[in-house]
Amino acid sequence: MKRILIKELKDHIGEEVTISGWVDVRRDMGKLIFIDLRDESLSKVQSVILPNQKEAGAVAQAIRNEWVIEIGGQVNKRPEKMIKSEVENGDIEVEVKSVKILNEANTPPFDVTTDGKDLNEEIRLKYKYLDLRRDRMQKNIRFRHELISFVRNYLSSRDFFEIETPILTKSTPEGARDYVVPSRLYNGKFYALPQSPQQYKQLLMSAGFGKYFQIARCFRDEDTRGDRQPEFTQMDLEMSFVEQEDVMSLIETLLIETVKKVSPDKKFQQVPFPRIKYVDAMSKYGTDRPDIRENKEDKDTLAFCWIVDFPFFEKDKNGGWTFTHNPFSKPKPEHMDMLMGKENIGEILTTQYDIVLNGFEIGGGSIRNHNSKALMKVFEIMGYEEARVRENFGHMLTALESGTPPHGGIAWGLDRLIMLLRNEDSIREVMAFPKTGEGRDLMMESPSEIEEGQLNELGIKIDVKKL
Ligand code: ASP
Repeated sequence: MKRILIKELKDHIGEEVTISGWVDVRRDMGKLIFIDLRDESLSKVQSVILPNQKEAGAVAQAIRNEWVIEIGGQVNKRPEKMIKSEVENGDIEVEVKSVKILNEANTPPFDVTTDGKDLNEEIRLKYKYLDLRRDRMQKNIRFRHELISFVRNYLSSRDFFEIETPILTKSTPEGARDYVVPSRLYNGKFYALPQSPQQYKQLLMSAGFGKYFQIARCFRDEDTRGDRQPEFTQMDLEMSFVEQEDVMSLIETLLIETVKKVSPDKKFQQVPFPRIKYVDAMSKYGTDRPDIRENKEDKDTLAFCWIVDFPFFEKDKNGGWTFTHNPFSKPKPEHMDMLMGKENIGEILTTQYDIVLNGFEIGGGSIRNHNSKALMKVFEIMGYEEARVRENFGHMLTALESGTPPHGGIAWGLDRLIMLLRNEDSIREVMAFPKTGEGRDLMMESPSEIEEGQLNELGIKIDVKKL
């Protein structure tokens, strides 16, 4: 008999059906055995094995929680006084005719039927495939899929192309340390994993794609600080022939439409999103990620705001200038002369816009310098010799010199946005296979040593540093 999903059972009352899934709970009451079965439709149903079902009863005796079984039986309406109206399928029951064990399961290291919030996180991460069985995690990961699908469809229907960019690439100056990958064919040389697709997306504008986006994996080797992950996901986007207003209004509409679709219970505190200048945010809130919620108790309020007019440069720890956000950004039009003349450097404002939600920066972007001379000035201000800039960014400069249109874009930190929409406290709760805060994968046990032969091929000798 064709398998049906547990969520569909209520449409099959009186019929014989086959269902399969995981044993949520088994209760042996002597004469009667009850099995609550759960499947991928995230529904549960109570099934009952009556004393006359000798064969099924014998099989059911052995069954334990988390075993995978197939049940054949009849869907019955429960007698009035047995109805549990507060639970799904509380008004029906499957009267078991046959039980087949599809796979046994060891006793799970923890209960997967709770929300898991009281558990030690390390054990959840070690047995992530089990942790993911819990309803809360299933819903978070499915929500993530829905949000990403919505964004993909929205952008695709507005002439954006999703284009993959390389994972094996070259170091970029984006403020964090790169993860590097040694090359076997070119011993002593390394690829770097992308901190973001920044340069590639700009090169796609040069290539004439006009509107690009990508659900992109980014890698940053940062010291463990707060709720960070070595790899995380951005919704990365870039557009040609646009100004600040074009990107900001597209993104604001996309955020509003996305939330309305995937989190209809959430309320926007203010639409259009307020725009706050960096100096005002700092003087009023003491941060450029202000939580402007009027009522912080209400978990369903979303207080989005934009932060604009950031300084382009700030002093680094050696007293030189460095960029605050992105070296490829363009200054505000009225500050272009200061950049070109390298004057009043601390006063130059950038076209950078950050989008903040309830005190978290969930995205940022800018209009870019599409003129190579202006980009060169940025690097000069940072004290780079022309030869070094040509060596590191020659491809960017020559691309800009080959007919690159004006362009700009943004990237969202998708994990954080999803975390906030799900009322979770950590991005680890909305990623299928996160690492610990210290960057370890406890399930696969990585990072790990590699074999001597692999090291030899790569021309690498290990000299372990104590951190
Ligand atoms: N690449 C930038 C980042 O990762 C975002 C952007 O400016 O588009 O922060």
